[in-house]
Amino acid sequence: MDTAVFRLEGVTKRYGDLVALDNATLEVGANEYISFLGPSGSGKTTLLRVIAGFEAPESGRVHFEGRDITNVPAHERGIGFVFQNFALFPHLTVIQNVGFGLTHGKSGLSAAEVERRAVEMINLVGLSGMEGRGVDQISGGQRQRVALARTLAMKPKLVLLDEPLGALDANLRSRMRNELRAIRERLGVTFLHVTGSETEALAMGDRVVVLDSGKIIQTGTPGDIYDNPASPDVAHFLNRFNLFDGTLSKGTFSGAFGTVASAKATRSNRDVCAVRYDRIRVLPASSKAEGPALKATFIASEYLGSSVMNFFDAGGGHLVEMEHHLSLGAPDTYEPRQDYLLTWNPEQAIVFGREAGQ
Ligand code: ADP
Ligand code: MG
Repeated sequence: MDTAVFRLEGVTKRYGDLVALDNATLEVGANEYISFLGPSGSGKTTLLRVIAGFEAPESGRVHFEGRDITNVPAHERGIGFVFQNFALFPHLTVIQNVGFGLTHGKSGLSAAEVERRAVEMINLVGLSGMEGRGVDQISGGQRQRVALARTLAMKPKLVLLDEPLGALDANLRSRMRNELRAIRERLGVTFLHVTGSETEALAMGDRVVVLDSGKIIQTGTPGDIYDNPASPDVAHFLNRFNLFDGTLSKGTFSGAFGTVASAKATRSNRDVCAVRYDRIRVLPASSKAEGPALKATFIASEYLGSSVMNFFDAGGGHLVEMEHHLSLGAPDTYEPRQDYLLTWNPEQAIVFGREAGQ
């Protein structure tokens, strides 16, 4: 595809017997913001390191701006990398850190130009006035911004961010999310952002790429992935679905909640019914529900700002989560240790199974 700025073709990377990246193929367009979501050890850092050129893949090709860069050394790729631990120089000031690559690389810029560009990047990330501070005299969130400014100062067309917000508190994290997107729009760079957080992946990405055991298991817009997770594993990583094991047979799914017709099902090697947290309805234990009905004991609730999460034990330690969005009105309250009946509209459940078509 000609509009792709960046392309991976069947990239495999092994460490001994371990396949850290398994035949990864991906195309990224200009100005896209891509988030990579996957559990720890799924190959996210390895993927970025291969793209940056810090690791050579055993097979497959990496293309960037119309060029095969598989064998191009890292420092000649024009790709920026913001490391998970920031990797700042502790004895240098903010401005010296930001200008470091320009001063010590092959930028050919004069000292005055380096300073001008460093100041511009420091302004861009909102650290004006801190130029002369030592990086050991600023907060974690500010160090994060220095690391970003240092990378952006090199004017890369592609910026790789390895869990850049992991070390920040929740407040700062959501501010930085907005700022990263704003910077992307101002500078016209493509961002590949690795995260272990499903909230971050869904909030930030124009597209989300889900990784598991070195494989890309789904690529799509946040809406696609949220509405149509490709497998029980993706549904699990999204942290938005209750997963019920059971049996899919002749278009009906049988689980602890009873037997329910499932006209549509997605092929999978496991029979699983996935129900979004915000699709669960809670009825008194004595109710008669049409369709799925699961007896469960209320455990506790948690206030999340825009919604309330209610936790139920469906027996055998199976936790069922029910989310009430506060925009829909005040939440019902439930009695701890009391039994309730959980139900949902079966048409809103996503059924996976071995007998499904494809
Ligand atoms: P993530 O960033 O998603 O947590 P990584 O890409 O760091 O995952 O790691 C993927 C897999 O490769 C893990 O099983 C990890 O232990 C292994 N791995 C990563 N780097 C190395 C290395 N240098 N040597 C051996 N194994 C490695
Ligand atoms: Mg990692």
